[in-house]
Amino acid sequence: MNVHIFRIMVTSLIDPFNRRIEYLRVSVTDRCELRCTYCIPKGFTGFEEPAHWLSFDEMERVVRVFTELGVRRVRLTGGEPLARRGLPELAARLAQLPGLDDLSLSTNGTRLRKLAQSLRRAGITRLNVSLDSLDPARYAEITGGGRLDQVLDGLAAAKKAGFAPVKINMVAMKGVNDREISDMVDFCIRHDFTLRLIETMPMGATGREAAEHYLDLQEVRRELQSRYELIPTVMTGGGPARYVQVGGTGLRIGFITPISQHFCATCNRVRLTVDGTIYTCLGQENNLELRPLLRSGASDEELREAVCRAIALKPERHEFTTQPHKIIRFMSATGG
Ligand code: SAM
Repeated sequence: MNVHIFRIMVTSLIDPFNRRIEYLRVSVTDRCELRCTYCIPKGFTGFEEPAHWLSFDEMERVVRVFTELGVRRVRLTGGEPLARRGLPELAARLAQLPGLDDLSLSTNGTRLRKLAQSLRRAGITRLNVSLDSLDPARYAEITGGGRLDQVLDGLAAAKKAGFAPVKINMVAMKGVNDREISDMVDFCIRHDFTLRLIETMPMGATGREAAEHYLDLQEVRRELQSRYELIPTVMTGGGPARYVQVGGTGLRIGFITPISQHFCATCNRVRLTVDGTIYTCLGQENNLELRPLLRSGASDEELREAVCRAIALKPERHEFTTQPHKIIRFMSATGG
């Protein structure tokens, strides 16, 4: 196709299934100090080499290219994004990009006490914090030695810094933390947090092992419904959660149900890994490597064309239920 015509035509990213891609998740590192049972395997050492990490200049350039093509929302994730040194600086640079309406962050919360203020100042608008248990021993067990008090301090710092709402991400697991869901509901009501419950996904060996604790969130919803009035509602975010408001309280609960009720038909996102690879689906291998282009002097036009080629590779849906062994990379490698 004539490049000039191509440039005029491509003002938004539409995939082969007519889904508009307007949300990019950027993994700024695949490393994390925690070893959650369903995520990074214990003793794992195969992290991406620093020489392959995109620099902040490269990340900013790629995100700019995406925003020029219509992406409006970016979430910084990982691995643990706050483990990447200087992250608030990257956030501040991205927050300035024309066309970017929403810059959010997912974190395990352990460094928030120190960083919440600077993240807020940098222009992060929304914050998700992973927290699977309120019991210090169970939290340590699930996370491979994590300290609950650090996360609770981090949450307090996030509130103080003015993040509202703060969303708590809880991976709900049968026989592990399912009995804590009502404690988590109370905790979130008390602290004015939003609760998001997530089904385990069979990503990598760890994700598949966790599948033995898989909990169908439709059951959890029915159980909660017997105790509370749940009123369907919506929340800003651009993600796949289906929300309810808990009657008589300010609490909203989001259900993220990739297994029991997948949301692929409305998927609006792709992911960029720390080594500059675009993954177009969590549950498929379809990807395109941008790093070779970035490091061989490609023009912005060439990058835009590559991004469009990647979007054309986006598959219709994941196959977590029909082919659970397909994805060998674990969540932290892609960016959750
Ligand atoms: N470190 C950050 C955090 O803790 O939120 C961001 C990265 S983490 C990989 C993003 C989210 O993915 C977390 O909420 C984590 O619980 C979730 N996650 C990781 N592996 C998962 C799996 N196999 N199934 C479901 N959720 C998973």
